Formats: sequence, structure tokens, C-alpha cells
Amino acid sequence: MFGNLSDRLTASFQSLRGKGRLTDADIDTTVSEIRRALLEADVALPVVRSFTSAVRDKAKEAVRSQVLNPTQQVVKIVNDELVEILGGTTREINWADRGPTVIMLAGLQGAGKTTLAGKLGTWLTGEGKRVLLVASDLQRPNAVTQLSVVAERAGVDVWAPEPGNGVGDPVRVARSGVEQARTHGYDVVVIDTAGRLGVDAEMMDQAVRIRDAVQPHEILFVLDAMVGQDAVNTSVAFRDGVGFTGVVLSKLDGDARGGAALSVRGVTGAPVLFSSTGEGLDDFERFHADRMASRILDMGDLLTLIEQAQRAFDEKEAEEAATKMASGTFTLEDFLSQLRQVRKMGSMKKLLGMIPGMGQMREALESFDEREVDRVEAIVCSMTPAERRDLSILNGSRRARIAKGSGTSVQAVNELVSRFEAAKKMMEAMASGGLGENGMMAGM
Ligand code: GDP
Repeated sequence: MFGNLSDRLTASFQSLRGKGRLTDADIDTTVSEIRRALLEADVALPVVRSFTSAVRDKAKEAVRSQVLNPTQQVVKIVNDELVEILGGTTREINWADRGPTVIMLAGLQGAGKTTLAGKLGTWLTGEGKRVLLVASDLQRPNAVTQLSVVAERAGVDVWAPEPGNGVGDPVRVARSGVEQARTHGYDVVVIDTAGRLGVDAEMMDQAVRIRDAVQPHEILFVLDAMVGQDAVNTSVAFRDGVGFTGVVLSKLDGDARGGAALSVRGVTGAPVLFSSTGEGLDDFERFHADRMASRILDMGDLLTLIEQAQRAFDEKEAEEAATKMASGTFTLEDFLSQLRQVRKMGSMKKLLGMIPGMGQMREALESFDEREVDRVEAIVCSMTPAERRDLSILNGSRRARIAKGSGTSVQAVNELVSRFEAAKKMMEAMASGGLGENGMMAGM
């Protein structure tokens, strides 16, 4: 996501680098490169126009006032404009004053509504809310079952029509779901609704009837970020048809060019509240315009990374691990537990992508083989606790057993062992202040 746009934008600043002073012509050149980058990323034309004209005016103004480091200034202006079109500061959910908060999902079939219901269930539960998912998508065969499955995975309750009772009337199901939530003290109701492959009057009419019946506090329009230029038409159709209070961008993990993300706020006026980045229930984040902008400009997204780390890591355990590293008593058993905590945060590729400057290593990142981490984990898991604590007991037959148990080779086991021992020496050296040239935990 955003890979190409990111490269193009970063490249558009290249011609400015090293220049002590910028001329209006320099800025015009850069702005037309930015314009081309945005158009290529499928950003809607009106959004591109207002974006580039704002950047041009502000950059020229900055040059006239002779700011220090004009190039950095231009980057900052582009960053600020990106934040602006992505929606500025993140708004809170409109919680109900009393009774359950009703959130209705709308969007085309396949946009990711049902999956989102499960993700919201997980996220809201983490926020301390009691959640009820309501199955008002009675159009798509299997949608009710799919919602029940995600509800179970998310550990939240589901309200689905009993066979022969309310089947075929999504409005009734929605209304009774909200009633159920009210009488049983749920904090949030999430209503999954039907979508079609294209916008049609009947679908819109059904959504409107559900909306009028339950008076939702939030209507979230789920937009598949992969749809490119079509995103604008679909968004406008939903805005005019049912209306919505917020947008959820789904499938941001795909190779979408980013146009939808950058256009939807400008075209509909509604803020993006969440983004979905995968099929798993945890592949879901609050959408922060400033962080997304800095991801696009390849300035990394350390804040999100830190937040995810805080959620995944047990602080006490991390401290213990650090102490062990410093004293040379860190074992493969500790390594395994740290590795598992890191993996809870998501794929390594995704984590690495949030680190500033990693954009330039995109190719290396693309070819990063997640299975390598699986192999390391399998090898360590195939060791006995005694072996993990003391690698010196690993003779040939033990190594062969571990290789077989982990489905790898003796060579792979040997490599891991020697890399771990080298890293351990490094950790001890770092702790005693004798850090060598290479620094860091090379190879681990
Ligand atoms: P609905 O018809 O709007 O309810 O859409 P679904 O929730 O059934 O999603 C359609 C498909 O997209 C399913 O295969 C989901 O697993 C997948 N999906 C949903 N959200 C994401 C996402 O953020 N990333 C990816 N890669 N796939 C997603």
C-alpha cells in the first residue's frame, strides 16, 4: 500500500536536496511531480487540484520568507497537506449518552463489513465494552453464519434471526437486536447489513429502512481501498443514499495505490475512523491522518508501532529479558518467549515497514520470508527445555533430532545455534560497555 506513491513523492523532493535556495521554478517542477504521483495513485482529480495548489502557494510563501532549509520546509508542507486531506485529527466515536451505542455498517458486498464487525468486536472488547453483533445481512447466503463465526472468534455475542422467525426481514432483526442490547445491558451494538456487488436502489432502500428503524449513533461506510477510481463514485452513492458518519478503509494491506484513502475525505467530507490491514481480527487500527501521512512520506510510523508493542508486550517480562541479556544469562527459552511476543504484534514485514527509512529497503522487505521466522521458532520448539537453557549439550544426535522434529536440516540448526551464541557474546559486550564497531545484535 502506498509503495509507489511513497517512492514517487520521495523522489519529487530529490531535485530540491542540497539546494540552499529554491526558486519558484524549482517549486513548480516539484509540484508537477507531486501532481503526477497523486494522479498515478488514483487520487480523485479535485483532491489533486486543491492539494497541489495549496502546496504550491505555501512553498512559494516559505521561499519568499527565506526560511532555513527550504527543502525540509517543502517536505513539511506536503506532510501537513497530506494530514489535512487524510482528515486532520482523529475523531472519537459518537458514544451514546445512555443505553447502547448503535453502530451500523454499510458498503458494497465484499467490502469487508462482516470481517469488520468481528474486528470492532475485538477492539471494543479491549476498550472494556460489552458488544453485540447483529446479523442484518440476510441477502448473501452464509452471511449470518460468517458473522456467528467471527463473533465467536472475537468472543462477543451475536444476534441472528432464528429460523422461521424474522428471516427475510433485516429491519426487524436490526430493531430486535438493539432491543436485546438495551434490555441486557450491552454497551455497543454493531449491525452488519447487506451489500450488493454494485450500488442499487433496493440495497440502498433497505439500508435506509434499517437506519430509520435503529437511529444509529455511527454509520460506518466500509470502503475497499483496492477499488481505485471507483471509490469516489461508490462513496458518493452511499453518502447520498444512506449517508454516513465515518469511513473504514479496508484491505489497506493490498497493493492498492492509495487513491481511495486520499480522496474519500475530500469527496465525502466524512473522516476515516479505522483502517483494516488483513483478514485477521487484529489487523485493524484507528486511523490517524498524521501517522498515515508520515508513512506515505516514508518517515515511518513509530507511534503505531509503539502502541502495538504496548498491547503485545508484558512489560515485566521484557525488563527481565533485558536484565538477562546484560548478565549473559539470556537463553533460547527467553528468546522464544520474546519472539512470540513480537509475533503477536503482526507479521515481521508489517512491523519492519513501520520503521522510518524502511521504505527505501522496500524490495528487501518484499522478499522478506516470514517462513524464516517460522523455521527459527520450529527449531527452538523442537529443543528440550534443558537444551534451550544450555546449548553446550547439543551433540550431533541431539542436533539431528531437532532438525527432524522441526522439519529443517542440521545445517539450519547449526546456523541458529552459532548465530545465537554470537548474538549473546555481543549482548554481553554491550552490557559491559565494550560495544564493537558493528553494534546491534548482528544476525539474530
Ligand atoms: P462483506 O461482504 O462486506 O461482509 O465482506 P467480508 O467481510 O465478507 O469480506 C470479503 C473478503 O475480504 C473476505 O474474504 C475477507 O476475509 C476479506 N477481507 C476483509 N477485510 C480485509 C482486509 O483488511 N484485508 C484483506 N486482505 N482482506 C480482507
